[in-house]
Amino acid sequence: MTTPFEHASRPLATDTYLLHGIGDAAEFGGIVNPPVYHASTVTFRNLADMEARGRAIDAADTDVMWYGRKGTPTTFALQNALAHLEGGYRSLLVSSGLAACTSAIMAFVKAGDHILVSDSVYGPTRHFVDTVLARCNISATYYDPCIGAGIGSLFRPNTTLVFTESPGSQTFEIQDIPAIAQAAHARGAVVVMDNTWATPLYFKPFEHGVDVSVQAATKYIVGHSDALMGVITTNQATWRTVREYVFAAGQHAGPDDVYLALRGLRTMAVRLERHQRNGLALAQWLAQRPEVAQVLHPGLPDAPGHALWKRDFTGASGLFSVVLAPGFSDHAFRAFIDHLALFRLGFSWGGFESLVMPFDLRGERTAAPPPAAAAVGQAFRLHVGLEAKEDLIDDLAMAMRQLARQ
Ligand SMILES: *Cc1c(COP(=O)(O)O)cnc(C)c1O
Repeated sequence: MTTPFEHASRPLATDTYLLHGIGDAAEFGGIVNPPVYHASTVTFRNLADMEARGRAIDAADTDVMWYGRKGTPTTFALQNALAHLEGGYRSLLVSSGLAACTSAIMAFVKAGDHILVSDSVYGPTRHFVDTVLARCNISATYYDPCIGAGIGSLFRPNTTLVFTESPGSQTFEIQDIPAIAQAAHARGAVVVMDNTWATPLYFKPFEHGVDVSVQAATKYIVGHSDALMGVITTNQATWRTVREYVFAAGQHAGPDDVYLALRGLRTMAVRLERHQRNGLALAQWLAQRPEVAQVLHPGLPDAPGHALWKRDFTGASGLFSVVLAPGFSDHAFRAFIDHLALFRLGFSWGGFESLVMPFDLRGERTAAPPPAAAAVGQAFRLHVGLEAKEDLIDDLAMAMRQLARQ
């Protein structure tokens, strides 16, 4: 039997790749899914075998079995699939999305360096920059996520890294990644991007100048709210530097979680289509409501960075924010959140289910005010799941009655 690759006249479409390109069934006696290898110790046939594998590990080019922490066939199957999907050179798995963000920074900085970080970066990434990096004498300047090529004026002689996240957490500004990458590369700085929202299916970081892409696989890749994992994908130039740090720091992802991520990945394209359709439908519905001042969804024409989203992205996932019109009491807002039934209150997102999380940006941003109304409070983020959208709209409509009653 020929493999799907042998008779295709062009590279497999992503939808097909997710089903046929991951793992190699022939390697596992025909078993469709890469098996779960539980391993710390890997034994060698003899000293010569150990030395040969040691040289291969040092060359950093192949999937070599050496010690469980450095990967098994389960790990390699997921890493190779993600590198392919992101359009990067190679990927490494780490323990969480946050660990992917912090490792991608740590790989490139030393005491005395300066980095540039988007003002709309994921909160815990910002916390790491403000605490651990500050303690190591690595300084940071937060920049307006909509700065584009204007970022050039913020570089200092010791600026080594630009951290981007597009769209931004909570406020969903789309960044002009190609313009930022051009400015950074002209000054010898590395560009890291948190690409969790779009996933590698809806944004191709390496085609837009990114050097290192990170994913919280916890979100859409795992997709079922039952495992934490991070992915770091590099281009060829940054591979050794990132790998050196990740191995030196002892980062690792457990085999059962890797399996859950491999399983989630199979259906990610289908799930994302529904997240996108439901998300846009709800965003449009919410934008018409008198209770709502602003919907922050990159797919809506008046959202910050909508034109860039259309230029650079091929889709939208199911996460966006809503800012209420002014004038509702705190009591009414709390009642609204508590009356939601299908949108459950919880951190994280990217699973099959809908979630809500209120947020308050007052005092959180330091470089630029958040988009219009998001500066005034009473805002919430929605993750729109795979439910029937009519049920989700009913849920929102019923809870919004609490806003009338005050
Ligand atoms: C959730 C999230 C992370 C962190 O992922 P964890 O697996 O929860 O550590 C990082 N970046 C973004 C944009 C996220 O939404």
